[in-house]
Amino acid sequence: MQQNVSLKPYNTFGIDVDAEYFTALHNISQLPALSAAGITRHVLGGGSNILLTGPVKGIVIHNQLKGITVEKEDIDYMWLRAQSGELWHDVVMYAIEAGLGGIENLALIPGTVGAAPIQNIGAYGVEVKDTIETVDAWLWDEQKVQTFTNTECCFGYRDSVFKHSLKDKTLITAVVFKLSKHPVYNTSYGAISDELASLGVTEPTVKAIAHAVMNIRRSKLPDPKVIGNAGSFFKNPTIPTTQYETLLVHHPDMPHYAVSPGQVKVPAGWLIERCGWKGYKKGFIGVHARQALVLVNYGNARGVDIWQLSGEIVASVHERFGIELEREVGVW
Ligand SMILES: Cc1cc2nc3c(=O)[nH]c(=O)nc-3n(C[C@H](O)[C@H](O)[C@H](O)COP(=O)(O)OP(=O)(O)OC[C@H]3O[C@@H](n4cnc5c(N)ncnc54)[C@H](O)[C@@H]3O)c2cc1C
Repeated sequence: MQQNVSLKPYNTFGIDVDAEYFTALHNISQLPALSAAGITRHVLGGGSNILLTGPVKGIVIHNQLKGITVEKEDIDYMWLRAQSGELWHDVVMYAIEAGLGGIENLALIPGTVGAAPIQNIGAYGVEVKDTIETVDAWLWDEQKVQTFTNTECCFGYRDSVFKHSLKDKTLITAVVFKLSKHPVYNTSYGAISDELASLGVTEPTVKAIAHAVMNIRRSKLPDPKVIGNAGSFFKNPTIPTTQYETLLVHHPDMPHYAVSPGQVKVPAGWLIERCGWKGYKKGFIGVHARQALVLVNYGNARGVDIWQLSGEIVASVHERFGIELEREVGVW
């Protein structure tokens, strides 16, 4: 265990604050001692969905649990067990090389396997929940690993039980994914079909789709190694259809997509852009010039300043549209 460790290399925003204590988790046999340690615990994966607003009290546990194995297979599916410290993109690559379908649209999402179920990562019309069979999690209080079924994870849009009743109560140790040997491709979302066409692909494969997604993501999203960020800072808000129809009177070009009867989702990026924030820059903080959903650190930003900027954005969207934005990024 180390003391007073800078977390700058461990969060994609690149915020420079210290952890009081820091340790790497390589084996679940370390967990009982960490459970008994009697200090506040913070589980750290790739640090790509957190904003550090000050020195972190207690112990930061950097997840390095590694391994991908085939749990079982039948004629239609293969079940892959990935340890939670594996990089998510490496699991996508493993699946693609094996010709397995289900997660190819989620290529290049940063972070670890263990964090993927927490916010039910999603992109290009696919959510990880549709491939998760079970999640193994160490329960800090009970000091044992419990297996949660997909239903028990209570997945929702960027949401799961691990953000609610199990928040801070577990360390996810492994996830089992059920992947298809006969993939059904989802190319209708975003620019995937256009990108496939420009790559000269006429017969999609999981590999071709993943490469198309990777090309699109690289062209649209800032690379955290170049500009600190945590991807989309806000969720896309869901509002009643009646509210949407009222808003259309003054904002006839407001985009939307139906989510359930009587409810529509509105792109948060569009709302933020319309409030004039796209490309905003003040000192080291800002809103990305090409993607209004992404808040950025241009150098030595403080987490509290980014947090305050996010609050100003929430307030201005509320004032103009009467819609309350919810933050997707967690705060430590
Ligand atoms: C450039 C960029 C693009 C992105 N694009 C997308 C996207 O398209 N779709 C999307 O959904 N997300 C996206 N994200 C957000 C992020 O990649 C995901 O939320 C990812 O799952 C976070 O993983 P992580 O390991 O970095 O989590 P961290 O940031 O390390 O942790 C996030 C939270 O989960 C907790 N946690 C982490 N691991 C565990 C564990 N094993 N057990 C218990 N708790 C744990 C942490 O304590 C923390 O509260 C993007 C981020 C960036 C920087």
